[in-house]
Amino acid sequence: MLSVVESIYTQHSDFRFPGGVAKALVLSMDDGPVQDRRLVELLDCYGIRGTFHLNSGRLGQPGYVAPEEIGSLYAGHEVSTHSVSHPYLDSLSRAELVTEVGDDRAALSRILGRDVRGHAYPFGACNATVIEILDELGITYARTVDQTRDFRLPDNLLAWDPSCHHSAAGELADTFLALPDSNPALFFIYGHSWELDSGEPTNSWAYMENLAHKLGGRSDIWYATAIEVADSIGAMPRTFDA
Ligand SMILES: [Zn+2]
Repeated sequence: MLSVVESIYTQHSDFRFPGGVAKALVLSMDDGPVQDRRLVELLDCYGIRGTFHLNSGRLGQPGYVAPEEIGSLYAGHEVSTHSVSHPYLDSLSRAELVTEVGDDRAALSRILGRDVRGHAYPFGACNATVIEILDELGITYARTVDQTRDFRLPDNLLAWDPSCHHSAAGELADTFLALPDSNPALFFIYGHSWELDSGEPTNSWAYMENLAHKLGGRSDIWYATAIEVADSIGAMPRTFDA
């Protein structure tokens, strides 16, 4: 039943991302605030692609991007689900879970005219029931907020832990760039563009631009969205945990 989500993807040292590169970078940003407009512009300058997790119930509300702009705003990036209204999913009934995630997916897919298959857990909250429902809904991957502080490929795409929050990415960037190409490595950064308004040393627009400048425009990195990485991993031969 849960064979897919319980499967263990081994760290195939010979696995390579599309284009034959060993490294991939994903920026996974939540909530769809209006600050995404500035972030997309910045990422586009450096050839970095983002995954943007949106709450369809908040689109068009003050401080959030509007439904009519998301197709053009996020062109070249990924739009993914984040639930309709941003509740703690681990506090909901099964029926409520289907509504929150299924309706968000349907609304975003309808607006964009293409199937939206990814998810980021609001507040990072999930449990076995949530994961089971997402699997039944056909969600391909779901991102947590538990930071691994490393660059491993995920064991479980429906409990996909990021490398770190964007405020910690500066610390890890040099390590990622210096890794040899002998093993696949994924730098999976999550965060929120609205946080960059804080102006703190590791949470400002200047900080994000420095990070993008450092990580962008390299031939040894695949600049991917989360769904692209999930699909590439999903196509990899699997070894199931006995
Ligand atoms: Zn959120």
